[in-house]
Amino acid sequence: MSQKHTLEHAKELDKSDSLARFKDEFYIKEDHYYMDGNSLGLLSKRAEKALNTSLQDWKDHGIDGWMNGEEPWYYYSEKLGAKTAPLAGAKPEEVIVTGSITTNLHQLIATFYEPEGTRTKILADELTFPSDIYAIQSQLELKGYSHEEHLVQVKSRDGYTLKEEDIIEAMTDDIALILLPSVLYRSGQLLDMKRLTAEAHKRGIIIGFDLAHSIGALPHQLHEDGVDFAVWCNYKYLNSGPGGVGGLYVHERHFGKKPGLAGWFGSKKDKQFDMEHVLTPAESAGAFQIGTPHILSSAPLLGSLELFEEAGIGELRKKSLSLTRFLMDLVNQELNGYGFKICNPIEDERRGGHISLQHDEAARICKALKVNKVTPDFRAPNNIRLAPVALYSSYEDVWNTVQILKKIMENEEYKQFENVRDVVA
Ligand SMILES: *Cc1c(COP(=O)(O)O)cnc(C)c1O
Repeated sequence: MSQKHTLEHAKELDKSDSLARFKDEFYIKEDHYYMDGNSLGLLSKRAEKALNTSLQDWKDHGIDGWMNGEEPWYYYSEKLGAKTAPLAGAKPEEVIVTGSITTNLHQLIATFYEPEGTRTKILADELTFPSDIYAIQSQLELKGYSHEEHLVQVKSRDGYTLKEEDIIEAMTDDIALILLPSVLYRSGQLLDMKRLTAEAHKRGIIIGFDLAHSIGALPHQLHEDGVDFAVWCNYKYLNSGPGGVGGLYVHERHFGKKPGLAGWFGSKKDKQFDMEHVLTPAESAGAFQIGTPHILSSAPLLGSLELFEEAGIGELRKKSLSLTRFLMDLVNQELNGYGFKICNPIEDERRGGHISLQHDEAARICKALKVNKVTPDFRAPNNIRLAPVALYSSYEDVWNTVQILKKIMENEEYKQFENVRDVVA
């Protein structure tokens, strides 16, 4: 940190921020600092409008909305997939909006996990999100393998981050498939997807990534990197709303592969209503859909994606890095001596969109923040995640968040609360 930061400096940064105008696109409560866009993004006016369009189509057309509405439902998932593709660094037909992370993982592991001979194991890591592990475990069991023996989890050396070298070392001859996060949900570490993919492929191993904490936060090059498959949700950085439908990517080299979990919406679109008992899968990522698309919980994404198109993911990433850098500088400048430890990687090329503070009193510090109109994100056992989001957070918001945190620590306001998590945290 070169100079001491001040409120005036934060205001200057906001004045020269070319993305500042996007804040007005969102519903944000006055004097409220929302630092949880990595868990549930805020509602934008465009997302609301897109949802209203689909409701209007239903009102006006009934069943004919499938083909004739303003946004026909029959091609909706494909349209959303094509519009998300630039954020994934994929071809339009390599992406489809469908399912949730967990159901999409079930689908793609069922499709790509093909144990053969002594190559029977799945490689993941010990820091990943529980649902991803549950999906792997049950897919192993379904193929008749015990997960105790066939799930290999790379260990973390420091408890927050992973070393690419350790992951590569674990890519042994008995590994059939690898599933890793792009950005770790607690520490915000960004893994080198290009390198890991190249190393996996050298060894003949299929590799997929969970982009929950990177889609909409930073650019991807899934196609160019040769990644086999990926999954994500759209309700975090992509602001598609609670339970908003997720997305998946499959590299075009796998088109034509039989979906592990088949359903009629995976059909070639013009064959689907032939009602044959033999599935003709779409020759695209669309093949991995299962049932009727959830139109009303997909619709907000269409509006939200307009904002990403207009802002540009490259610019958003630049601002995000600058906001999180500013936040880390302020933690160091203002919160020294209060027992916080920054446990996300410090380097730009190794961190995602949030910062992660470790503190023994994390659960009740988060409760005190909420009472003070800051929405943080607590992750057990002792992580406070703070995500200033490029589309709707300002430098002044970051400044105020840290000042409120400082006040809470100075006055020990957190002691009014119990240091246990709430049901949802
Ligand atoms: C948010 C998140 C999930 C949630 O999965 P859903 O099926 O969408 O509920 C899964 N994995 C990771 C890494 C996440 O961050």
